[in-house]
Amino acid sequence: MSAAAPVGEDSGLFAEDLAEAAALDRADPLAWATELFHAGAADPPYLDGNSLGRLPKRSLSRLLQLAEDEWGEGLVRSWNGWMDMPARVGDRLGEVLLGAGPGQVVIADSTSVNLYKLAAAALDSLPGRTAVVTDRANFPTDRYLLAGLAASRGLTLRLADFDEVMGPTPEAVGNVVGADTALVLLSHVDYRSGALADMAGISAVVRDAGALTLWDLSHSVGAVPVTLDESRADLAVGCTYKYVNAGPGSPAFLYVSRHLQQRLRQPIWGWMGKRDPFAMEEPYIPREGIGSFLSGTPPILGLALVEEGVELLAELGIDRVRSKSLALTAHLIRLADRRLEPLGFHLATPRQDGQRGSQVTLRHPRARELCQRLDSSGEVILDFRPPDRVRLGCAAPTTSFTDLVRAAAALARSAAELTSGEAG
Ligand SMILES: *Cc1c(COP(=O)(O)O)cnc(C)c1O
Repeated sequence: MSAAAPVGEDSGLFAEDLAEAAALDRADPLAWATELFHAGAADPPYLDGNSLGRLPKRSLSRLLQLAEDEWGEGLVRSWNGWMDMPARVGDRLGEVLLGAGPGQVVIADSTSVNLYKLAAAALDSLPGRTAVVTDRANFPTDRYLLAGLAASRGLTLRLADFDEVMGPTPEAVGNVVGADTALVLLSHVDYRSGALADMAGISAVVRDAGALTLWDLSHSVGAVPVTLDESRADLAVGCTYKYVNAGPGSPAFLYVSRHLQQRLRQPIWGWMGKRDPFAMEEPYIPREGIGSFLSGTPPILGLALVEEGVELLAELGIDRVRSKSLALTAHLIRLADRRLEPLGFHLATPRQDGQRGSQVTLRHPRARELCQRLDSSGEVILDFRPPDRVRLGCAAPTTSFTDLVRAAAALARSAAELTSGEAG
């Protein structure tokens, strides 16, 4: 192995970085929050909270209590308390994390299914328009859902190419919407670059073209304060198992701005979206308001965990979470500039605070091998996105500045080993 590069945590340079990080951790007003989460015995730094958030300790007790008392003892009688959970938890999520007034958010289904419901409802409401727009780099399920809807309705799917690092801007979106456009589906925070889109600016451009916006908030909810009402967004969806920490496969949410609720009808007519679900002989008559966007029986166990995740973030305060997240990602960018750029890594996330979410993405020509090495060594948990991106998620409640140094040191060591393996 080459002796030239500072490749180990214990080498001089990373020792300096570790000392600096320890000071930042001591000054961190949210450092105590890690206590709220379950931690494994020999946990490596976990920089993948943007794929699956950690388990809040209180969620475990809620799960047991719900299963034993409400399900085990209460049985079917417990539906009295369960029935309004999609709307109740939706309102609370809207209030705490989405900047959405009551009666506009429900918890239901998966993000994919909610995308389908809202996109289909939007398209049905604008029958004369023939094009739907999304970002060519958007998350796969978003593109597939829109492609499927376009194919089944004979619409044109327009895949826009935005700047790889900075993502869509109002100007660039203005260039791809027109009088033919029904719907624009975009991610608020890009899952690859972590770029944060200008929701208000883009929504205005789309509105001016007479089209509707559908925002995917999967990578912003719980990490970035979202202002749906103030930004005049039309529609939104998002998942709860990333920064909301509600657990694998936890139910998603959907938002329909109040001004659209009368006009839009979603396509999956189930009994839970009906005015009186128990008037069984009646034909389908949708409920008033956001409840009409429900379809089937709500997943109560998952809903309870969404509630716990939202309450935990309410206690921490989304603004404090955002401040720490920005401090973490800014620090990681500094570390990358200092220690990783010389080893062939390139920053693929916006440098400006206001323009990124809660992750830092680095490109490296051998990212795949690098990540495989780190996977098998187990010294850090992060993820790889083809073809050449390493994604480091900085979930503020559970990530320390020391974690960032350890991750950067592991990346540096792997990169140096790969290169020296070739030389030798
Ligand atoms: C994680 C994520 C999803 C997930 O969709 P599921 O239906 O839960 O699988 C969708 N869109 C984006 C942008 C995501 O980041």
